[in-house]
Amino acid sequence: MSNPSRRAFVMCVVAGTPVFGASQVAAQAAAVSETDPQAVALGFKNDTTKVDKAKFPKHEVSQVCGGCALYQAKPTDAVGPCALFAMKTVPAKGWCSSWVKKG
Ligand code: SF4
Repeated sequence: MSNPSRRAFVMCVVAGTPVFGASQVAAQAAAVSETDPQAVALGFKNDTTKVDKAKFPKHEVSQVCGGCALYQAKPTDAVGPCALFAMKTVPAKGWCSSWVKKG
């Protein structure tokens, strides 16, 4: 845990300081980087319109993280944790090849 702001956040939580709501907690979590090896392997993009159509011909721009079963936030939240990426955050308008329609 080398991120100083994350450490400060955790210390506030441990101290019982009510500083953040649920969506703010998501905003404090580490974001998935498009260059992370797992993200590269899954073709993850922060913006679904930037997905490589040649590599992922079945991709549709209507498929976004906010509509994915693995997105751990409300579809209307701009950012939320993804269960596939160890709860790191992804933008609601993002996409990866493991996209599964929320039921
Ligand atoms: Fe987005 Fe779903 Fe892929 Fe996670 S698994 S990055 S929520 S499309």
